[in-house]
Amino acid sequence: MIKKIEHFIDGALMPGASDREAIVFNPATGTESARVSLADANEVNTAVVAAKTAFPAWSETTPLNRARVLFKFKELVEANRENLAKMITAEHGKVLNDAAGEVTRGLEVVEFACGIPHLLKGEHSVNVGQGIDSWSEMQPLGVVAGITPFNFPVMVPMWMFPIAIACGNTFILKPSEKDPSPAIFIAELLKEAGLPDGVFNVVQGDKEAVDALLCHNSIEAVSFVGSTPIAQYIYANASENGKRVQALGGAKNHMLIMPDADMDQAADALMGAAYGSAGERCMAISVAVCVGNKTADMLLKNLKPRVETLKVKPGTDTEAEMGPLVSKQHLEKVKSYVDLGIKEGATLVVDGRNFRHEGPETGYFLGGCLFDKVTESMRIYKEEIFGPVLCIVRVENFNDGCRLINNHEYGNGTTIFTRDGDSARQFAHSIQVGMVGINVPIPVPMAFHSFGGWKRSLFGPLHVHGPDGVRFNTRMKTMTARWPAGIRQGSDFSMPTMK
Ligand code: NAD
Repeated sequence: MIKKIEHFIDGALMPGASDREAIVFNPATGTESARVSLADANEVNTAVVAAKTAFPAWSETTPLNRARVLFKFKELVEANRENLAKMITAEHGKVLNDAAGEVTRGLEVVEFACGIPHLLKGEHSVNVGQGIDSWSEMQPLGVVAGITPFNFPVMVPMWMFPIAIACGNTFILKPSEKDPSPAIFIAELLKEAGLPDGVFNVVQGDKEAVDALLCHNSIEAVSFVGSTPIAQYIYANASENGKRVQALGGAKNHMLIMPDADMDQAADALMGAAYGSAGERCMAISVAVCVGNKTADMLLKNLKPRVETLKVKPGTDTEAEMGPLVSKQHLEKVKSYVDLGIKEGATLVVDGRNFRHEGPETGYFLGGCLFDKVTESMRIYKEEIFGPVLCIVRVENFNDGCRLINNHEYGNGTTIFTRDGDSARQFAHSIQVGMVGINVPIPVPMAFHSFGGWKRSLFGPLHVHGPDGVRFNTRMKTMTARWPAGIRQGSDFSMPTMK
């Protein structure tokens, strides 16, 4: 009997009404593990009605009581961290401790959202005019939607919904159809934590469900994380329908390695940042930019044996450093980029295409791949591969490295490895990228800062979580009041100014 993954609407599992469904695979074996329902517009509407109905009471619940539900939810997620990690590994393929780390990073946003009474305090000015006080308060928007990618089925939804619901909104999550189970488990834990029915809903689906969300009149805001073409589509369509949008897209993240860098430290960092989670991270480093041939040669000498001996195994194997890719199609796509790199004239130093792991042949495994002498005009440099493929680009100096990074269409994350404070400071200040590291491989901001890229890695002005997350999920209202009310000043037909 094949497992069926349903929607979660108004506090309960809801079987799909349409007969559309997608197959969910276990990437380590390549076998079907479940079927997931794909919602149509009617099912999306059912979720929106539930969320809209729940909004008045939830938005009037005091921020402290909303936070208390999140405190309880945090405890439940902590108690179920391993279960969640297993669920992620079963459908995504990443190794178990990486999956548990994803849960931890998501929980940090829940912890941030637990401070919502403080975050919603607003602003107050006394005596802006004679006997007049003014204050601003942040009010929730209404029903907001989150559309999320396959690569972080727990963390990315947690970038969105904890702050959205803490601010008093109600929420509809449309997770990736490739790994839909954790979203349902999260919904069940929220219910157990005491969240009223309808405040958090899950609609499973594909483009049809997304389009129904984008044009639904009762949805006020859309948070999206995924690839750049879809992010652009979401931004254009949701904006046209009058919604507030933040749409985070793809990436090609560079590590600039200066000749004075601690090469062992840089190589250690690069191994995890390029090959961790099989490169399926939006903050993975996919380009190492080496300043000088000597730097590149030293790095290669260090990396080559390590990439060749990467422990590529099912995510459930405690020895695994890297699991399989998410799907057969994605495996073929990543392999085709390796073929392309050879055709384009890059030097393939380590070829992971013929990697065979000891388990079932049908798993979506690829060994680590390493290219040297990649140039700016090659497609393997320009495009996001989203797999365990690291490209080394050689440049002559610091300025050439910065120019290369600034010219790239993506601007999600970048990092510099150096011992020189001047270069580090100049890099951090002037590089055209949203998140910057200095001797740190993956500069993912903590939950109390905001996460977001520049250029074609983000459409919309506001980043996710942290202070921007609160701004995105609220609208400002500013009051101006006179007490005592009885002061008569007569009619004044000119622009009100402070006399
Ligand atoms: P994707 O764009 O294929 O899918 C993302 C979401 O959009 C999914 O829920 C999917 O169902 C939906 N979707 C897919 N095609 C659609 C269409 N034609 N119309 C409407 N909706 C559609 O992305 P993915 O493959 O799931 O995830 C990988 C991508 O996400 C990579 O590009 C990665 O860089 C990016 N990503 C970015 C960040 C970031 O913070 N910038 C974080 C994680 C992932």
